[in-house]
Amino acid sequence: MSEFSEVRKCVVCGATFVAHNWSRIYCSQKCGRKMANARARQKNLEEVIAQEHKKKVKGSNMKAINELAVEAQKRGLSYGEYVGRYEYDQ
Ligand SMILES: [Zn+2]
Repeated sequence: MSEFSEVRKCVVCGATFVAHNWSRIYCSQKCGRKMANARARQKNLEEVIAQEHKKKVKGSNMKAINELAVEAQKRGLSYGEYVGRYEYDQ
């Protein structure tokens, strides 16, 4: 396997750094220690980040559903009727 090298953003301070290890998510030992402290407080920072990511994905889906609901309302249909018709037309 070739040497790992990837430009990343430090999860602690936001600085850009080159990670030589896939699991490295902070720029310096100083930030690593800050992260360890944060971990002690909020159990697992990576988990928090993963949850944030999930929320973002979920959020974008929710937005699409809301947009469909608005479209349905404009046409005087219920959301279910609109989605049903939309899928039928495809
Ligand atoms: Zn940092």
